[in-house]
Amino acid sequence: MKIVAVELRRVHMPLVAPFRTSFGTQTSRDILIVRALTPAGEGWGECVALPEPSYSSEYIDGAQDVLRRFLIPPLLALGHVAAQDVARVLQPVRGHRMAKAALEMAVLDAELRARGEPLASYLGAVRNHVEAGVSVGIADSVGQLLDIVGGFLDEGYARIKLKIQPGWDLEPVAAVRERFGDDLLLQVDANTAYTLADAPHLAKLDAFGLLLIEQPLPEEQVRAHAELAKRLRTPICLDESITSAVSAADAIVMGACSVVNIKAGRVGGYLEARRVAEVCGAHGVPVWCGGMVEAGLGRAANLALAARPEFLLPGDNSASQRFYAQDITEPLTLHDGMMPVPAAPGLGVTPIPEVLSELTTSVEQVGGRVHQ
Ligand SMILES: [Mg+2]
Repeated sequence: MKIVAVELRRVHMPLVAPFRTSFGTQTSRDILIVRALTPAGEGWGECVALPEPSYSSEYIDGAQDVLRRFLIPPLLALGHVAAQDVARVLQPVRGHRMAKAALEMAVLDAELRARGEPLASYLGAVRNHVEAGVSVGIADSVGQLLDIVGGFLDEGYARIKLKIQPGWDLEPVAAVRERFGDDLLLQVDANTAYTLADAPHLAKLDAFGLLLIEQPLPEEQVRAHAELAKRLRTPICLDESITSAVSAADAIVMGACSVVNIKAGRVGGYLEARRVAEVCGAHGVPVWCGGMVEAGLGRAANLALAARPEFLLPGDNSASQRFYAQDITEPLTLHDGMMPVPAAPGLGVTPIPEVLSELTTSVEQVGGRVHQ
């Protein structure tokens, strides 16, 4: 289809509670929403870049700049573009995977809506519900953490992921395991906060029967993760280090991980995310879908991805209300510990116009007027 213009909109969404990780605390989410305008209709994308380059090198102002100046113009110049061609068209621009992913997502949504196909079936979904997990931030105290975890278990979440960092690791993990029992599906995420010299300390986590430890070491240290894997019984899962299907294959062959967290934004889009899943599946490595505190558009697309067969562990597929009292789309909600996979065409959800305009802080359009 012809992309006539692309709208870049920023929305400001307060979080229901601060979300603290080893790289910082979020109290609200500034989100870049991408809308592709075509003669046949519109398509929506959501960029997962954070305000600061703290999770990775990308950040939201940078993503908007590269979209405006370098990513959108080549798509507008084409007479016709299919979603499966977007990554190739954008390939001359190095990196900027979160920005590319948001643009591809908008084109893909427009294309699927135009032909009436849900994203889940397009991506190869094999189920219409996925198990819901929740990511729990660093708390002020162990007592507060136990209350928070208990609340999520009462809501029906099947798996708990604790954010950890040096000084907040063994004690909170031991307390959660002790309080909620050995059957609780429990894992931890360090967001690169440790070094290989911490191996003896991290090995103490082996006592708690964790599903996995996620990204203990910095993004570039894939070989060091392979070294660490030899010293831990807890399986290592990579997040930040996996930026493509090729890097996933390399990390697996090197022995750096035995589980992979897939985030479409981190790998350049949902189509590359599907390739990452296929590569992991071919190596017998289970995957799960990570989260970036998405609003409804990204949350819906993640559910579609997580419905693929390689997603054998519960992901960070939580309900809208885990982070937002008011989502920009109809809220995605838990049903008996499961998240329904949206079944309507495209992403299956659409921003609610009044909510979107209320939360919008800026809008710019790249490209021409649309005559529909
Ligand atoms: Mg992570």
